[in-house]
Amino acid sequence: MPSNPVLQLYNTLTKLVEPITPAAFIQDTPHLRFYSCGPTVYSYAHIGNFRSFLTADLILRTAQALGWKTTYVTNVTDVGHLTEDDLTDPSGEDRMVKALQSKEGERFANIWDLARYYTEVLLRDWDSLNLREPDVRPRATEHIRQQIEAVEQLLANGHAYETSQGIYFSVASFPDYGKLSGRGHDADALEAGAAAATREVVTDSEKRDPRDFALWKKDDAHLMQWYSPWGWGFPGWHIECSVMAKAYLGETIDLHAGGEDLIFPHHECEIAQAESLTGKPFARYWAHTRFLQVEGEKMSKSKGNFYTVRDLIAPEPEGRGIDPLAVRMALISGQYRKPFNFTFDNLKAAARHVQRLREVSALVAAAIEHDAPGDAFLAPRLDALYAKALAAMCDDLNTPDAIAAVLEGVKLLNGVGANLNGASARRAQTWLDQVNALLGVVAPEQSPSSHPDTTDDPFAEQVEALLAERAEARKAKDFARSDAIRDELDALGIEVMDTAEGAKWRRKLSI
Ligand code: AMP
Ligand code: ZN
Repeated sequence: MPSNPVLQLYNTLTKLVEPITPAAFIQDTPHLRFYSCGPTVYSYAHIGNFRSFLTADLILRTAQALGWKTTYVTNVTDVGHLTEDDLTDPSGEDRMVKALQSKEGERFANIWDLARYYTEVLLRDWDSLNLREPDVRPRATEHIRQQIEAVEQLLANGHAYETSQGIYFSVASFPDYGKLSGRGHDADALEAGAAAATREVVTDSEKRDPRDFALWKKDDAHLMQWYSPWGWGFPGWHIECSVMAKAYLGETIDLHAGGEDLIFPHHECEIAQAESLTGKPFARYWAHTRFLQVEGEKMSKSKGNFYTVRDLIAPEPEGRGIDPLAVRMALISGQYRKPFNFTFDNLKAAARHVQRLREVSALVAAAIEHDAPGDAFLAPRLDALYAKALAAMCDDLNTPDAIAAVLEGVKLLNGVGANLNGASARRAQTWLDQVNALLGVVAPEQSPSSHPDTTDDPFAEQVEALLAERAEARKAKDFARSDAIRDELDALGIEVMDTAEGAKWRRKLSI
């Protein structure tokens, strides 16, 4: 058995590609403690968001393929993310409130409803694109008490101060501020963008330094508010991640990930808060995903090149009915640190690759039934190709090389074709399982937590009967009947998904 390769990733903190060595062990096995920033649930997640989530998923899968234990935490931001927290839009509105007040938001009774709905959609998209479930998916609104306590501690140890509008972190109290991003070291030399990012909407003249950022906002008119030692209000965005990472992973975590826009200010601020609370390093390694572009341009609604996952995978007419695994394959086809251009041509190529994997899986499954001695040459060649794919992933997630090794394996298996049988088919099956565990592009991995058992549905029998009838109607090319059945299912609140494995169904999300 060849020894495992060493997992290496680019560390934004040191600007070096470094071997990742988890600090802790569970019975001699490395234990990776990993936190990745999740979405703000004010809208449907777009393919750019998922490019970043997929990077985290691939790191997790690679660590697990190496046999490591992992504790993976990724949050849901359901309060407090103001547009002023981002460099791109310093207008200062609350993302969730803005969404509720938009046309789209008219569907919701209130802000809690909006957060719940988009969280549920996120979980479904997560599942459809075959991302592994985190060990914990904490929500900011469920950790308000811990955030208040952290703010109290920062006030007590001199890293924060109160104004009439809120509690601010004092950047001057943390000399290491800027160590991740190289920005914001010096208040005088602060770039315009950095100033904008931490600027308050309603300029708070009591702020001591323009770099200081809000830990708590006093606001008894906000749509989401909690009682605190400073009256009614809500937490700043950055504090949730420092607090939840510490709660579930300990004071020093191994790895922290997110999209490149989070380096500054979000992650810089997370470090400042966490390290001021504990006096210990917050995260040993930082991994950031380069932004995705679409057809060579920044994705934006006004350019008409903005795609949510829903737009691509939802059945027509709501979406384009594209195979979710093809979307996954396309999104991981570029290395996470390189500029990535999503195009419909590369989506088509990805769909072809996924289709070839599916066909070869069927070939292998059929061949397993034929009990005959296998071809001795196949196993070592498949072993070598899996080793190549794993080594590529360990090389700073070189997904293009990993995918190339997998496609070489597909070619090899197709070459053996009809001669595939017995032991060699079983080895090929194991190879496909290994490849799927590593890249998640062969078949959906059903995780019980995220796939509620549809047989429990009160309409399950009726739905199954209608689906069988629909399949018959489609076979007989009676499309009027099959459409009518879809409408009937729709009225029952059932969504039908036509997949390569046949029609699947689930209950539609209620608003
Ligand atoms: P948000 O919901 O805005 O907090 O973003 C959730 C995650 O998606 C963060 O890690 C962002 O950095 C990431 N992200 C947002 N836009 C893109 C993009 N175009 N490409 C890659 N990652 C993105
Ligand atoms: Zn975060």
